[in-house]
Amino acid sequence: MKILKNASSFKILTPVAELKDQLLRIERAGRTCYQSEIKEINWETAEKFVKMLIKRGHESVLEHSYLTVQFNNLSRGFTHEQVRHRLTAISQESTRYVDYAKEGEDVDLDKLELKCVVPPHLDERKKVDLGDGRKMSAEEMFQEYENFYRALRKSGWLPEEARQFLPIGVKSQIVISANFREWRHIFEMRTSQFAHWEIRKVMGDLLEELKGIIPGIFDDLAEIGKDQNGLRFFGKVKSQN
Ligand SMILES: Cc1cc2nc3c(=O)[nH]c(=O)nc-3n(C[C@H](O)[C@H](O)[C@H](O)COP(=O)(O)OP(=O)(O)OC[C@H]3O[C@@H](n4cnc5c(N)ncnc54)[C@H](O)[C@@H]3O)c2cc1C
Repeated sequence: MKILKNASSFKILTPVAELKDQLLRIERAGRTCYQSEIKEINWETAEKFVKMLIKRGHESVLEHSYLTVQFNNLSRGFTHEQVRHRLTAISQESTRYVDYAKEGEDVDLDKLELKCVVPPHLDERKKVDLGDGRKMSAEEMFQEYENFYRALRKSGWLPEEARQFLPIGVKSQIVISANFREWRHIFEMRTSQFAHWEIRKVMGDLLEELKGIIPGIFDDLAEIGKDQNGLRFFGKVKSQN
């Protein structure tokens, strides 16, 4: 069993040049509405234009876009929250077809390893009282999950059967695609102070990176505070222009 702490990451799968081009496309589409075509559309005019669209609440124009992101070393709990967003395309690591005991083509149940995500602000080695004289830490509990899962597999249970006993903290991977309007909605919901720490952390990091790549689209979403564990939360702020 391997503990994953502060190990979450993401990879933007849409090439940067493609993301920037989409900004120009949004301006071109939006100017059709207003019949306000200009000679040259460039990054500067596009940034100004999308900010205007967002300010006016004319966000349907942002739908002329697409962004794909891969999320790594996050829990099954995280992916379950992510898949609630219906206006997305989703591909997620399977607990049926991925065999935790597989190395290449070989299956070695003695080498089976579960990777489990823990809250970074808590001590997974601290024991808690089970109330029957025993004490156990979160790390030990995850180890028990792995032991039991392995025992089931050794007794003939298939991955798709033994998965009933995987913890919600088990590591997963997911790829999400959506248009910029939907990503704005996801960021608003999942980086707020009410969002779960795991999704809030990775979505906050992704938001910051995207703001540096495609100006204008996410500028009104900014860090507005930190919780008691020092984890940032975001919210809508007034745009400068
Ligand atoms: C802090 C927090 C706590 C939560 N707690 C719970 C909980 O306890 N239990 C629970 O079940 N869920 C919970 N959720 C999930 C939440 O209820 C939503 O399912 C999830 O955030 C997806 O949001 P959405 O439906 O707005 O967005 P999306 O599915 O991303 O859709 C985007 C927008 O498109 C529109 N839309 C999409 N589909 C339809 C449709 N069929 N009809 C009309 N309009 C549509 C809506 O305007 C929607 O806001 C929680 C979410 C957060 C952020």
